[in-house]
Amino acid sequence: MQVYPFFVTHAGCPQRCLFCRQEVISGVGDSAQPGDVGAALEKVLPERGDGEVAFYGGSFTLQPAARQIAFFEAVRPYLESGRLGGIRISTRPDGLDPSQVDLLRRHGVRTVEIGCQSFAPEVLETCRRGYQAEAVVQAAARVRAAGLRLGLQLMPGLPGGGPREAFESLARALALKPDFLRIYPAVVLKGTGLERLWRQGGFRPLELEEAVEVCAEMLWICHGAGVPVIRMGLQATTGLNDGSVIAAGPYHPAFGQLVRSQLWQRALRRATLQGECEISVHPADFSDAIGHRRKNLQVLQSEFGFIEITRDERIPRGALACSRGRFPIMDLAFYED
Ligand code: SF4
Repeated sequence: MQVYPFFVTHAGCPQRCLFCRQEVISGVGDSAQPGDVGAALEKVLPERGDGEVAFYGGSFTLQPAARQIAFFEAVRPYLESGRLGGIRISTRPDGLDPSQVDLLRRHGVRTVEIGCQSFAPEVLETCRRGYQAEAVVQAAARVRAAGLRLGLQLMPGLPGGGPREAFESLARALALKPDFLRIYPAVVLKGTGLERLWRQGGFRPLELEEAVEVCAEMLWICHGAGVPVIRMGLQATTGLNDGSVIAAGPYHPAFGQLVRSQLWQRALRRATLQGECEISVHPADFSDAIGHRRKNLQVLQSEFGFIEITRDERIPRGALACSRGRFPIMDLAFYED
């Protein structure tokens, strides 16, 4: 689905969470204003479309109601003319009491993304989230009861967490039957409380390889649960890419590809262990299959000798073909131990 994002940087946030600096995550310094929305949409919207305007980067529903409505009113003409299908907002779980959810429903909001980050009490407390995990459960139930689509955001690798906590939080998130997930491994941004904690030696972020492995396993579990993961890792921005805003942690501009490639590597290894050395994939999967900078090919070739991966448009997306037939990679990408 086409999404037209606006960033309401830290709007409504009751406090600053330990890890957060929205202005550097979004790469947009100033918060969007209701008066900006119409002119920006005029430039990008098709004559007819089912996309969503999204308000990201803050706690949308914790702004004053009049401010929320001003944004909705700016979008309304485009919903009424059929150029947009709905509105999407992201917010905190404690910003979704029944009256707030009702306000969203009455003004054309179709999708609500809840920043959960973790369900572990020690993580929520250390990161100064200011609510208990039960608040997520209740907020998610209200969003679903209102007939809105539900997205959940998780952040593995925060202080007090780690791989085990990440999988436990994922299980709690999946139990809420979200329509989709976003997964952002925790990165230490300069100027945050997390940076101070890290410099004092009180926190060790996940290594990049560790984060890729954890997120690959999470992606595989989500696939099994039938829940799409629409984003893995922070969206690349100039400040993130040149390293000027990152102190430490598993940031990579192609993090999502690293994760998908990890699952391809598992699947290809299983096929290769069965003696297969000539494997075909759909052209659109080719770069994920061979891996970032051909890493998968190099790893498998050093382990097994000759292995060739070729493109074939007849192979369905997400599958590989070898002499034994065609196999979905998610069926092959489980751990062997
Ligand atoms: S994580 Fe969410 S609630 Fe916390 S400061 Fe950032 S935008 Fe605000």
